[in-house]
Amino acid sequence: SSVTGTAEWDGEGRTADGHEVKVLANVGAPGDARAAAEAGAEGVGLFRTEFCYLDADDEPGVGQQQDAYRAVLEPFAGKPVVVRTLDAGADKPLAFLAQEPEPNPALGVRGIRVAFDRTSVLDRQLDAIAGAAAESGAEVSVMAPMVATAEEASWFAERVRAAGIARAGVMIEVPAAAMTAREVFDAVDFVSVGTNDLAQYTFAADRQLGAVATLNDPWQPALLRLLALVGEAATAKGKPAGVCGEAAADPLLARVLVGLGVTSLSMNPASVRAVGASLAAVTSAECAAAAQAALAAPTARAARAAATPGGQA
Ligand code: PEP
Ligand code: MG
Repeated sequence: SSVTGTAEWDGEGRTADGHEVKVLANVGAPGDARAAAEAGAEGVGLFRTEFCYLDADDEPGVGQQQDAYRAVLEPFAGKPVVVRTLDAGADKPLAFLAQEPEPNPALGVRGIRVAFDRTSVLDRQLDAIAGAAAESGAEVSVMAPMVATAEEASWFAERVRAAGIARAGVMIEVPAAAMTAREVFDAVDFVSVGTNDLAQYTFAADRQLGAVATLNDPWQPALLRLLALVGEAATAKGKPAGVCGEAAADPLLARVLVGLGVTSLSMNPASVRAVGASLAAVTSAECAAAAQAALAAPTARAARAAATPGGQA
């Protein structure tokens, strides 16, 4: 089976035997959303709302936020869109959520941790998302970034439901959340694995630092084992587990992720067709075999080779 992505794709995310895996896009602005729809994405698996406000000095009002979110949701009326609440801090500082200077910002008050102190900012954002969802007709879910524990997940889900939003989820991008995926699932309707940060925190390797980039490889055995824990928990709980980090854009790894129990993949719009075509070319049994072969491999290189059709890469 080809993994080159040159094969045709009919736009329906599924394996050759009909197992559904939605192929979604990551977006941060209305232009991205239109590009994603044109690229054939079946929805949005990650809307990075903080990208709307990287230049904002003050917190935008609820009406202003609602307009901004609606513009991103509109190309996906009738389709699933996962909106992520503000992921401020570390590499994405927002002026209106500025923190005290920290020695290690990636390990500090970022993502959902900001919302524990500034809960009214979260609640206003949830109101704006609920309004934009109703106006756009998109099937909106909301998720939080940087969740570490099931207790944090349940705190967030309660606020999402109070805002009248039907589906509440969290990102799994901290190893602690992956290790307790079953308990996290009990608190929410779905999870989405952020492999960029999950790799950074698993390997203690700054995702922005080229010198440690070989560690930040989703084929590394430690990362595959964490993904397997999340996939097993999703299967056990009967709830969806997406992947929205860069790992989802690799057509060969996409098969492994599906074999590990991942139920949707979200990526940069440019990769949508290649991933859709790669999944359509194999059965779910072949995905499961590729996943087991990759999981058994001792190195990232060996895992990729083991998952490659025909054996060695
Ligand atoms: C991730 O961490 O993998 C992710 C998708 O979120 P971001 O890249 O925005 O941190
Ligand atoms: Mg992240």
